[in-house]
Amino acid sequence: MYDLVIRGGSVVTPDGVLSTDVGIFGEKIAALGNALEGREMIDAAGKLVFPGVIDPHVHFALPVGGSVSSDDFYSGSVAAACGGVTSVIDFTVGSSDSSIPDDIRNRLEDAKNAVVDYSFHGEVVGWRPGRVDEMNEAIGLGVKSFKFFTAYGASGRRTDTGPLLQAFQALADMDGVAVVHAEDDSMIETFSGLLSNEEWGRMESVAKVRPDVCEASAVNTVGWLAARTGVQCHIVHLSSALGLEEALYARERGADLTVETCPQYLLLTSDVYKSPEGHLYSAAPALRSSDDNAVLWNALASGEIDFAATDHCPFTRTQKEWKGAFDRLPGGLPGVELLLPLLYSEGVLRGRLPLCELARITSERAAKRYGLYPRKGSLLPGSDADIVLFDPEEVWHVQAGALRMNVDFSPYENLELIGKTWQTISRGEIIYSEGRFLGKKGRGVFLHR
Ligand SMILES: [Zn+2]
Repeated sequence: MYDLVIRGGSVVTPDGVLSTDVGIFGEKIAALGNALEGREMIDAAGKLVFPGVIDPHVHFALPVGGSVSSDDFYSGSVAAACGGVTSVIDFTVGSSDSSIPDDIRNRLEDAKNAVVDYSFHGEVVGWRPGRVDEMNEAIGLGVKSFKFFTAYGASGRRTDTGPLLQAFQALADMDGVAVVHAEDDSMIETFSGLLSNEEWGRMESVAKVRPDVCEASAVNTVGWLAARTGVQCHIVHLSSALGLEEALYARERGADLTVETCPQYLLLTSDVYKSPEGHLYSAAPALRSSDDNAVLWNALASGEIDFAATDHCPFTRTQKEWKGAFDRLPGGLPGVELLLPLLYSEGVLRGRLPLCELARITSERAAKRYGLYPRKGSLLPGSDADIVLFDPEEVWHVQAGALRMNVDFSPYENLELIGKTWQTISRGEIIYSEGRFLGKKGRGVFLHR
């Protein structure tokens, strides 16, 4: 007798769709099999059963230029749960003069109200030799991935190529993961310098100063450093076909390089910048063309792009109020609640993604890359009972007001989607069911990796 049994669903695993019950004992998956009996039973006939979604790239309560992203760890993780996300990886808030271990301790305070499980990437803001010891200590605290920027030199966040090589070498030696925001800062500065006053006042110019070659050039450089050092390296929010080409070259050269992309780079193009609400789409990298969208979908389906993430970084309309120039906007888009429904409806149902790949793209591969597997990312006995029950037939329209993310617009407003998260189970507990969030504040645990 199990504590909870999910009966009669279609269980989506990376290797196939199985008609099987799922038996849960305590916080763990205990068995897959037929006619399992539980003290509590869920009739999942007609539902898809996915491993709990892992969003490995979110920014809750992120301070940016005097503002803070509009979801804190409570509201953001409630939204995550409502969308089927059972684990998130956020970032520490680094600075040039704080140490990474202190940043981790501070971020653990910020995160204590989270309702789903969470971890952090340690943000490296500016390099200095002492960072190696800090990274070592951070790994002891359970944080084994570190975020570097090749852009944002003006705010001190950039790590230059030489120090980046040094950092990669150190991380390779300590089995850490280098996570990189790859855009060529020098190009951004040069292209920005060429803009007229009138162009600064137009949202479209964001694509001009951050073109695809700017991403490709940085991926190329990072790829060489990864190949030379053997470090586990991950490129966040890949946006362009050209950037993908460089990531593939890096792999040919032997780099252990993984890549993620985000729904906004699969579904939106730079055309949105021309709309009256174009400023709401401020984010970096810039949105690209429909050709780029198509290349990224193909790469996601084939496994060339390893997994999806949202880069959830919400700001309200007020926070994004247009102040006359595109560089005066906080950058980031909301998304954590929509990852699974968007990829199912726009990906699987449109023939762009095989259904089974969805379990890899939204869960398994991120778990493997970031040291969470097989506790997370799997529906096998022994894994945490993190499970999404998904209704593949519900038809609905995206409306910011009906979502739980603490933001008053959606980049996908009014988009018709087929398929919706029906129930979310986190470590054996039903925390979301048919529109209602049922979990308790602070129930999420820190995932020591
Ligand atoms: Zn980000």
